[in-house]
Amino acid sequence: MIVIIKPKSPQREIIALKQKIEEENKVSVNIIQGKEYCLLGLIGDTTKVDASKIRANEFVEDVKKVQQPYKLSNRLFHPENTVVKVKDSSIGGNELAVIAGPCSVESEEQIVSIARDVKKSGAKFLRGGAFKPRTSPYSFQGLRVRGLELLKIAREETGLPIVTEIMSTDMIDRFVEDVDIIQVGARNMQNFELLKQLGKTRKPILLKRGISATIQELLMSAEYIMAGGNENVILCERGIRTFETYTRNTLDLSAIPAIKKLSHLPIVVDPSHAAGIWWMVEPLAKAAVAVGADGLMIEVHNDPANAKCDGQQSIKPKAFRKLMGDIDKIMNAVANRGYDVVNV
Ligand code: PEP
Ligand code: MN
Repeated sequence: MIVIIKPKSPQREIIALKQKIEEENKVSVNIIQGKEYCLLGLIGDTTKVDASKIRANEFVEDVKKVQQPYKLSNRLFHPENTVVKVKDSSIGGNELAVIAGPCSVESEEQIVSIARDVKKSGAKFLRGGAFKPRTSPYSFQGLRVRGLELLKIAREETGLPIVTEIMSTDMIDRFVEDVDIIQVGARNMQNFELLKQLGKTRKPILLKRGISATIQELLMSAEYIMAGGNENVILCERGIRTFETYTRNTLDLSAIPAIKKLSHLPIVVDPSHAAGIWWMVEPLAKAAVAVGADGLMIEVHNDPANAKCDGQQSIKPKAFRKLMGDIDKIMNAVANRGYDVVNV
């Protein structure tokens, strides 16, 4: 439920109303102060809240029921886009946030060389898996803690903030210390214990859509993190499993405008894991930008043929450089990317 406050209402009246609603209904109330509006967002069991009683308050313009089960991630609770700040960069603002790097960290030379290349081309973040979720236990599992150390070296060399995947709650303290954006992979999107614990941190979390997850399920997983107080959530569309077998997954481009409409959280697109084929990364990345993605996550490898993981879907630094140039042109050509759907 949201309560729309009349413009220019005195702050003390808003606080008094918040406290009254909380005391009478055993719900928690967030004050959402925008540039030109003020809302109260009610979280918890609102089934017994008497809306007409709240409407009778002289500073209340209207009371609306929120039908969807996600509240904190809902655009109704937060009409403006969320911009997640990470060091000197941000995700969700006017600029496209590009995260690039290899599937997994393999050696110091590999990660530092790729980091330098992608930075030169305009990437704002470096990705690289240290702990790898692999379908087979016999496949390369990542360099683990050593991988984190190498990512830190690459960050020091280039200044690029680092994004890497967490797989279990026992690594949270270490990740909070070492990493700039903690990635929750598709396979862990509904690892609710992990999400709850990440909610207690204030680190930006890149939450990837589960292999068979609906958009609503993705937003509910974001809700788990936000319910703990961590509002720094970035969503990621990385393809979903369908009956098609030509591609590794099917990139759900419609999820981008859908999420823009339903939620205020930024959404980035990972065409590499969606397609699973290197030559599809470029066209899909361009399409994602055109439909309004706030960023991209692209797998880039200096030697894809010998990559330890996902070489088949990795592009080389030169192709990445060309892609970044093309994306600039798309950014300039498409007006109001993504946001035209918000108010229809
Ligand atoms: C990854 O980004 O390295 C990864 C494993 O992706 P996903 O969780 O989307 O499969
Ligand atoms: Mn990968």
